Amino acid sequence: MVENQNPILQGLNEQQTAAVTAPDGPVLVLAGPGSGKTRVLTHRIAYLLDEYEADPQEILAVTFTNKAAREMRERLEHLVGRPARGLTVGTFHSVCARILRRDGSPVGLGPDFVIYDDDDQLRLLRQAITEIGLDDKQYSPRTMQGKISGAKSKLLSPEEYTNSARTYLDEVAGRVYRRYQELLEWNQAADFDDLLSKTVELWAKHPDVLYRYQERWRHVLVDEYQDTNLAQYTLIRLLTERHRSLFVVGDEDQGIYSWRAADITNILNFERDYPDATVLLLEQNYRSTQAILDVAMHVISGNTGRRAKMLWTDKSGGIPVQVREAYDEQDEAQYICREVQRLVASHGYRYSDIAVMYRTNAQSRPIEESFVRYRIPHVLVGGTRFYERKEIKDVLAYLRLVHNPYDTASLRRILEMTHSGKGVGKGTFASLDLYAQTTHLPLWDAITLATAPAGTEVPLFAGAAPAAQPPKLTGKARSALHTLVTTIEGLRAKRQDLPLPQLIDTLLHKTGYAQALTDGSEEGLDRLENAKELISVAQDYSGLDPKEALASFLEEVALLGDLDTVRENQDAVTLITLHAAKGLEYKVVFIAGVEEGLLPHSRSLDQVRALEEECRLAYVGVTRAMERLYISYAFHRTIFGATQTSQPSRFLQTIPGSLVSGFLPPARSASRHAGNSGSRSRLTPQPTAVLPTRQFATSVGNTAAVQSNSNGSTPTYVPGDSVKHPRFGEGTVTQVRMDGGDQEVEVRFAAGSTKRLLASLAKLEKV
Ligand code: ATP
Ligand code: MG
Repeated sequence: MVENQNPILQGLNEQQTAAVTAPDGPVLVLAGPGSGKTRVLTHRIAYLLDEYEADPQEILAVTFTNKAAREMRERLEHLVGRPARGLTVGTFHSVCARILRRDGSPVGLGPDFVIYDDDDQLRLLRQAITEIGLDDKQYSPRTMQGKISGAKSKLLSPEEYTNSARTYLDEVAGRVYRRYQELLEWNQAADFDDLLSKTVELWAKHPDVLYRYQERWRHVLVDEYQDTNLAQYTLIRLLTERHRSLFVVGDEDQGIYSWRAADITNILNFERDYPDATVLLLEQNYRSTQAILDVAMHVISGNTGRRAKMLWTDKSGGIPVQVREAYDEQDEAQYICREVQRLVASHGYRYSDIAVMYRTNAQSRPIEESFVRYRIPHVLVGGTRFYERKEIKDVLAYLRLVHNPYDTASLRRILEMTHSGKGVGKGTFASLDLYAQTTHLPLWDAITLATAPAGTEVPLFAGAAPAAQPPKLTGKARSALHTLVTTIEGLRAKRQDLPLPQLIDTLLHKTGYAQALTDGSEEGLDRLENAKELISVAQDYSGLDPKEALASFLEEVALLGDLDTVRENQDAVTLITLHAAKGLEYKVVFIAGVEEGLLPHSRSLDQVRALEEECRLAYVGVTRAMERLYISYAFHRTIFGATQTSQPSRFLQTIPGSLVSGFLPPARSASRHAGNSGSRSRLTPQPTAVLPTRQFATSVGNTAAVQSNSNGSTPTYVPGDSVKHPRFGEGTVTQVRMDGGDQEVEVRFAAGSTKRLLASLAKLEKV
């Protein structure tokens, strides 16, 4: 045993101590869930401060959510016994936002740039699509957003992306990307992906700036490293090139963000990138009982290509995992509620010890309704979040305009929301837009010029007034817009010395927004209350210099993740998606809707990689539980507006019946009618022991292979085969690879996309 002299090392096991005290240099801690990775990372920071006498200023710790960052800071202060001032703990996005706020001008972002959220992005994309003469019905902003985001995560510029385009759709996306990027610059705005890619660009092109940050943050620590994408990976590489003090922790079995371009190879290649790295494994799980851990191990064992990991716990035994078949989603939700009541009433749990997890946000609705009916306090993570309410977004748009009048997206929002009823019609907008475009003025300046009383000198943000005459507006439109301009300018003048809460209050009244909401209806009052709630949020910023308060408020609001709207310290059950639950732990966990099409999600069913990610997601869910785990699935489900008979998830098939209480679904039959013909017997309880639980030692893909091969109908493919898929249409096989006993075929479809499909599972036909 290591002699734990230093209090920082107390309560750590031997492997954890080795990680915390590892020599300065690259360190990788690779370990399963609940083994103390996050804990080790926190202790390492304390150790650096203490043993290496590092200055808090020199430490950068990157975590996955703002909530995790807050928790880490608190734990640290507890460990070192004083406030950890100067230390930077944040998400990649928040850290990058701060860097760009300070040093972004070489990459085109002034200190007042705004961060565009999902909604703003779609708005701007729609504008970009129409401006280049395309139809936004045919080329949906959502599709373009996905493609552009993917390109940015891979650090591809519009030109590079266009050059690499393989399909017509990609080529279109390249053009939209270019225009969208121009519009962002024009609005002095950055989207989430830009925060990362612009920082990479800044550092790559300006070694002097990079040097400053390398000197400042000599020690870099990253939690959940398995979920970094290329942009994040590059940031870390650049930053640590000089001092090489990099400490990362992660678990490749918990990589669940490849759909956001996270690349698991970043963790797998760590040893290649840093040959001198210290690599450590942690093997003791402190979170869960043996009963839960056993189930977890079976769930993840279905994935191929993973390094087998030891994970043990000294919490032997434990309450068996409960599996429950419900009749439908209502029945499932009621079951959960009754069980929650029972646990709280007679087993000493608090509501806040309990979480209900599900794959998609849409599943939360029946669960939440049931919680309301049973009067069980609960917080919904995600869903209609506070910051997504219309009135909140309206007020924020005003605030952003006060902050930065170039922010055309906010300006448009305000114009559409509040002036449509005041004689400012489509024609007015069109003429102002045209004027702005031809004179290369921001829309704000165009409006200022067009509404200024004759003969007045107009101060423009963009410099000199153009030669062209502004459009003539109707009297009504002109006066409404003039009022808007003077109100915003009045507020701009005040923002330097008015504390933020007062600024928002003044804004609500001066702009007429508060009056507009008080239309006498209940709903209006509700919305006004929400808008005022923003003033209470702003109280947190009233201590700051008003010059900085507005900027940091807008920045934090823009970066708020789902988790941050949960009020802390509330005794309530958490309803949360599996994705958002990463890194968290609860004494009791319910995983609802463990069905084919939900978990694994229907989008993933014909792609091996996607299926494996779904398996990891199930694993993440199971391993959140400390003492009790409930898994449920419904026989019928109404979701996304349709009612279906559902099949229990294939992931349940990997769990031996002896490990659970309740009953596991029988192995799925390959028959298409399984759902109907098996209906009655599936509802009849059966003793666990007699269940023919199939164990698939290899891959999830093989599970499917076994099933459909028993039909004897899967043909063998070779490159060049012409094939047909019910959804993707006709295509040609370009590559074939063996995956376990099955074929993984790559097909280039005539419609443009290329897909990797599992021969036994995808409904492919040879033509
Ligand atoms: P995940 O992969 O889910 O993020 P993790 O590896 O980061 O998990 P932690 O959250 O750091 O794990 O730790 C899991 C739980 O185990 C926490 O409650 C933590 O306080 C506890 N724990 C970790 N190490 C020890 C230890 N040596 N002694 C007692 N408790 C510990
Ligand atoms: Mg963790």
